[in-house]
Amino acid sequence: MASESAPTGIRGISLLDVAPTAAKVLGINLTQSDGVAIDAVDCWGCRSVVLIIVDSLGYDLYRWLASHLTNIPALAKRGVVMKAETVSNHTTPAIATILSGLLPEHHSIFDKQGAKESSLLSIPEIASASGLKAAVIMEKNGAEVYSGLIEIVRGVPDDLAPEDFDRQICRYNLEALSERPRLLVSYFIGIDKAAHMGLGPAEIRSAAILIDRCVGEMVAATDDETLFIICGDHPVHAGILKRAEKPSSVVLILSKEMARG
Ligand SMILES: [Zn+2]
Repeated sequence: MASESAPTGIRGISLLDVAPTAAKVLGINLTQSDGVAIDAVDCWGCRSVVLIIVDSLGYDLYRWLASHLTNIPALAKRGVVMKAETVSNHTTPAIATILSGLLPEHHSIFDKQGAKESSLLSIPEIASASGLKAAVIMEKNGAEVYSGLIEIVRGVPDDLAPEDFDRQICRYNLEALSERPRLLVSYFIGIDKAAHMGLGPAEIRSAAILIDRCVGEMVAATDDETLFIICGDHPVHAGILKRAEKPSSVVLILSKEMARG
């Protein structure tokens, strides 16, 4: 059954812990990290990782959305649902943290240009350098950082309408999964775009339902040794559902498909 939280020592679970958890499952080494691997997954027998970053999926927002969704809550029920501390209220530094396990002051990636210029090795590059097939499916600028460095890179222009962006991400995810990567990193933008466009709960829910459907297709396209990590990068930071109070936290779900047979 799902549990609400899993504290690690003196601090709570944080987005810093995502990369160390993925690295441990993949059997690779992050040379530096400010986070720790979440040990709940140790006994699940996973060898591959699908990491799905959902822009603006705050913890409270997820709790509200869950009753409207099917596949993500089903995964959550088989795993753990945690409230994870964020490291930034901005997308680029938060994603750099998710993919490196480093605090923003240590990875120093604060904008898209910084991401391009950084020599920091994040988990897709480390996986690939360790001989594991890695895939990154995300917004074009972010994906280009990985071009030529890992096996599968697909970028989607971020001027597409939110639903078109997420549908294209979904298609690329499924194509990539058919090549059986050991690590797939995927990024959905629809909820964040809806918030930035000043749209309300109905549109945010529609964006979430589209992502949820894709997650269902992704689960069906993977084996039962695949760890699914689904997390937000920061709570909603724009529009009418903007989360102003601290502490700000996002949802972090760790789960895997049950053995089929
Ligand atoms: Zn974001």
